[in-house]
This record gives sequence, C-alpha cells and structure tokens, in this order.
Amino acid sequence: MQIVNLSEVSSADTVAAEAIAKEAHVNLDDCYQCGKCTAGCQMAHAMDLVPRQVIRMLQLGLTDKVINAKGPWVCLNCMVCSARCPQGVDIAGIMMATRHAAKRMKLRPEPNDDKFDDAFVSNIRSFGKSNEAILAAKYNLASGHLFQDVNNVPKMLSMGMIGPKIHSVKDKQAVRDLVDRVLNKGRS
Ligand code: SF4
Ligand code: SF4
Repeated sequence: MQIVNLSEVSSADTVAAEAIAKEAHVNLDDCYQCGKCTAGCQMAHAMDLVPRQVIRMLQLGLTDKVINAKGPWVCLNCMVCSARCPQGVDIAGIMMATRHAAKRMKLRPEPNDDKFDDAFVSNIRSFGKSNEAILAAKYNLASGHLFQDVNNVPKMLSMGMIGPKIHSVKDKQAVRDLVDRVLNKGRS
C-alpha cells in the first residue's frame, strides 16, 4: 500500500478523474473515506493502491497514479467493495473504468493481466455471445498457457457446454455496436 503524497496535488488531472468516474456512474464526492470497501476486499493485500486510496487519488486528481497502479489490475470485480459502501460508491466500476482508461492510453501495468477480458470481449464482438470453446482457445493462446483446463474438455463436451457448432446471435452488428459504445464511453 502506498502513502499518498499531498504535495503532488499540484499536478492534478481532475478531467481524467471525472472521465473515469463518469464511466462508472460514480460521484467521487460521495466517498468519505471510511475504508469499508478496502476492509472487505480479498485482494487488498496484493494492491499497491487499495480501493479507498484509488477513490482518494481520483478525488485529488492524481489520475496518473491510479492509471499506473497495479491495484485495478488485480481486482477480481467481485463487487464486494461496491456492496459494502455505505455511500453506494461503485468501486468495482471505478476499478474497471480505470483499466479501460489505461488500455486506451496503451498503459497496462500488468501486461499479462486482462487477457481473459480481451478474449471475452473479442468473442462477444465476433458472435454476439460467448462461445466457451473459442473463448478458452483464445485465452490459452494469448496467455501462453496452451494446455490450461484441457482436462475439462471431455466433461464440457458431455454436458453440452462445448461442441462442434458455433452459436451466434442474429444481429451480431447490433451487439458489436453496443460493446463498442460501452468500451468507448469513457472517452466522451
Ligand atoms: S466504502 Fe465507500 S465511502 Fe467508504 S471509503 Fe470506500 S468508497 Fe469511500
Ligand atoms: S471488486 Fe475488486 S476492489 Fe472490489 S472488493 Fe472485489 S477485488 Fe476488491
């Protein structure tokens, strides 16, 4: 966990902070720093900036610190922090919006993270829904873990979770447009 240096507030970028907050539908001023989000976070021990600090940094406009932090990249998006917040601040949404902002800026502090997210989004953009076999193949190729979960293939086949047929929705373009709109909304 880092110590926040308040002398750096002079380099504040509140516009970028507000863009992240806007994507997450969060009013940064709602946070009064009680720390309940961080107390319930199962990944806080592995974060350089814990959830409470992420919000505080954004309140101060220290957006570059948040975007370059590892914290949002080890977030599991489990939503516990958002559920615990007495102010209704969606911290999990802030973590995700921060990742989107970092990706748009080609900054990925943990380059091997988010491969699953990328594979999932690519799958949805291609077929309008998730095809498990293709998702697994894309993730394994991207991560370099070529044989991860291959032991589960027979069971998934027997349960009909995967098969030779690739399923897609009728209007794939509509889903693609929707995904792109969501991913790009932090830019507006
Ligand atoms: S639980 Fe909510 S109010 Fe408390 S520190 Fe976290 S975001 Fe702020
Ligand atoms: S969503 Fe992320 S930040 Fe929130 S409790 Fe879960 S792991 Fe922690």
